[in-house]
Amino acid sequence: MIQKRDRSISRRTFLVIGSGAVTAIALNLRYGTKPVEAKNGSPKEVNIVEFSNSGQREETVSLPAIVKSDSEWKQQLSSDAYEITRRAGTERPYSGQYWNLHDKGLYRCICCDTALFNSDTKFESGTGWPSFWQPIAKENVRESIDMSLGMERTAVSCRRCDAHLGHVFADGPKPTGLRYCMNSASLKFVKFA
Ligand SMILES: [Zn+2]
Repeated sequence: MIQKRDRSISRRTFLVIGSGAVTAIALNLRYGTKPVEAKNGSPKEVNIVEFSNSGQREETVSLPAIVKSDSEWKQQLSSDAYEITRRAGTERPYSGQYWNLHDKGLYRCICCDTALFNSDTKFESGTGWPSFWQPIAKENVRESIDMSLGMERTAVSCRRCDAHLGHVFADGPKPTGLRYCMNSASLKFVKFA
């Protein structure tokens, strides 16, 4: 008797899950899986401020957003950089190559070379992650609410290619009071020429 009832429940559960999967497939077909692309199929344009390798601010340019498949990113990036930038991972503190770097230079996106931070705004946060009090240009990053891990944080990503970079917190030093807590693996340091 009990056995029978269990079976009918599990069959019903199966049917519910099954119809959910069909709906998900239908939605995927209908809306596609590339949300950063514009309606006409070409990547949307983003405004990026360009910087020379000596840190000189150049012009603001409109460029197509960079969209690549997972397998293309895997081929281009180290496994650490892939996990962090494309899957919103976090490197272990004190494990990255830049948390203790004091050289003067630019930090560019590991995925697309967009200039993200200047060493002039880097500070000792004591966290084991490279920390900055502001991005090199607000146009070059995107901030979004991140509700993962049961807390509300502000995630920071590259405007041009959507690479996850880290998070920003409101406990930084003057003049902004902000702490951009970045992953070394999402950055590429270029010493000032
Ligand atoms: Zn990028």
